[in-house]
Amino acid sequence: MNTLPRRLGVLGWPVSHSRSPAMHNAAFAALGMQDLWRYQLLPVPPALFLETVRALHEAGFAGANVTIPHKQAALLVADRISDRARRIGAANTLSFAADGSIDAENTDAEGLIESIPMELEGASAMVLGAGGSARAAVYALLTAGAGVSVWNRTPERAEDLARELGGRAVLRPRAADLLVNCTSVGLTDGRSEDDALNQLGLRADQIGKYPHVVDLVYSHTQTPLLAAAARAGAHTVDGLEVLVAQGAASFAIWTGVDPPREIMRAAAAGDSQMGCGPPS
Ligand code: NAP
Repeated sequence: MNTLPRRLGVLGWPVSHSRSPAMHNAAFAALGMQDLWRYQLLPVPPALFLETVRALHEAGFAGANVTIPHKQAALLVADRISDRARRIGAANTLSFAADGSIDAENTDAEGLIESIPMELEGASAMVLGAGGSARAAVYALLTAGAGVSVWNRTPERAEDLARELGGRAVLRPRAADLLVNCTSVGLTDGRSEDDALNQLGLRADQIGKYPHVVDLVYSHTQTPLLAAAARAGAHTVDGLEVLVAQGAASFAIWTGVDPPREIMRAAAAGDSQMGCGPPS
């Protein structure tokens, strides 16, 4: 008897750039699970998100990642929401139970923490940005015991975020043990490195104030922030590392298996078109 593979995918709009199918399918192949599981793109416009997700279980899907612009809507479709996803206000991982009911989780937060090779309890962290990924980062860092400051181009959004989740909104980035870029400023796009840093409220001579620097933006070349941080002697973590860590956490939720991260990273890095678009 032929058994169809259980299906997974990434819901986004647009989503053609996503590295998740390559990353997850490479892990299935490495584990000899490629005949049992298959991961695909699921391009779904916002107006069709809820009805499409509700139909996925019957179509043989065990779960799905969720990326821009659906991470908030993922909470609306879920029957059960983890405390973490509820607090962050967004989910990136849906799982379909045997009866078709839907669980929502957010693995962006644990993906970030897993990627940061330093003791966070008692450390100071400076988060740049106030969008969806900044919310996950602030939640994750506070939960790990760090003191968190938040800077954003639009200061009111940083204030709203800090009021809701905790941490302190600041008008200028401050020196800290850890700097995390959660804005979409990542590629030079013909601009100079100084211009890119200025958009983050930073000057090149300030980068040395951060011994650890994480840039959530993923790119096949080093982002201006990570290039400046590496020159200043900081320990750097790129967006691909975080992408792999959040993907590995989703993989484990669906399959119960801890996937090989190096295989996933190599597969995710294998696309020369990789840019700073939405993650997944
Ligand atoms: P989002 O919700 O759209 O938030 C975008 C943030 O970037 C806002 O804080 C926005 O500030 C800021 N921003 C945009 N353009 C800017 C500019 N020119 N100068 C200064 N600030 C600017 O996006 P998100 O979901 O948080 O994602 C942000 C980035 O993280 C994206 O590049 C995404 O690909 C990446 N990401 C990567 C991973 C990973 O696994 N590696 C996970 C999640 C996200 P305003 O409020 O002022 O508009």
